[in-house]
Amino acid sequence: MSDPTRPKGPRIIAVANQKGGVGKTTTAINLAAALAEQGQRILLVDLDPQGNASTGLGVELEDRKFSTYDLLLDDAPLGAVIQPSTIQGLWICPATTDLSSADMELVSTEKRSFLLHDALRQIDIDAYEFDYVLIDCPPSLSLLTVNAMVAAQSVLVPLQAEFFALEGLSQLMLTIREVRQSANRDLRIEGVVLTMYDVRNNLSQQVEADARATLGELVFRTMIPRNVRISEAPSYALPVLSYDTGSRGAEAYRALAKEMLLRHAAAKQGA
Ligand code: ADP
Ligand code: MG
Repeated sequence: MSDPTRPKGPRIIAVANQKGGVGKTTTAINLAAALAEQGQRILLVDLDPQGNASTGLGVELEDRKFSTYDLLLDDAPLGAVIQPSTIQGLWICPATTDLSSADMELVSTEKRSFLLHDALRQIDIDAYEFDYVLIDCPPSLSLLTVNAMVAAQSVLVPLQAEFFALEGLSQLMLTIREVRQSANRDLRIEGVVLTMYDVRNNLSQQVEADARATLGELVFRTMIPRNVRISEAPSYALPVLSYDTGSRGAEAYRALAKEMLLRHAAAKQGA
């Protein structure tokens, strides 16, 4: 039963696209950092066994004693698993390669698609007063990604501005529809964000035009440019916002965070 005195939980957003290398992790890290910079309290859940979001935010392997795996499969309390990052207001739930076996292990558990949902609704999450939880999904439509979609209110889709970008989307949309029908009726699409955009490249412009024609308002106005500072930042274990705060990449992620916050504020007023 819901407790009316309990604060409303954070808004949970899954960053998903079954294609690898399209900018999921980069978007999860930098959108999280940009939201934190704008005063939001953020938890970034690394749900990819590769642990790139954890590494990119400077969580060393030896500091991942407890990880997303323990949260999902060992009933670890949230407080034991999440840790503050070097960015004020940004917390991380780190991942290790343990997670790669989780998909198999999940198949044999009864509530297999609800594990992350339940973990993120532990009472002790309230104490952190998170505004947003961002989930960095693996590059597949596996049970892990389904767990993210069942836990989330919405899915944010990074779309790399390259040939065939839109083809992969229909499979993703199908999975979202299945999750809606089975486990999470209210799952929304947060939006589609074009990544690695190159204004000088006709192909980028073509993908943008196609995406806007097909998906309309779902596509964010803000596009993330291809920017070398963005790709350098993870090797310094920093979001681009800290690594080179005035770079075009940093400015783009700030703009994306603002656009999303404005959309949410507008939706709230309309409600
Ligand atoms: P995914 O998580 O979808 O697999 P990543 O976020 O890891 O994708 O990005 C794939 C690669 O592309 C990484 O090396 C990353 O640094 C690089 N990259 C991502 N976005 C940009 C960008 N806007 N400009 C330049 N390089 C980028
Ligand atoms: Mg990734």
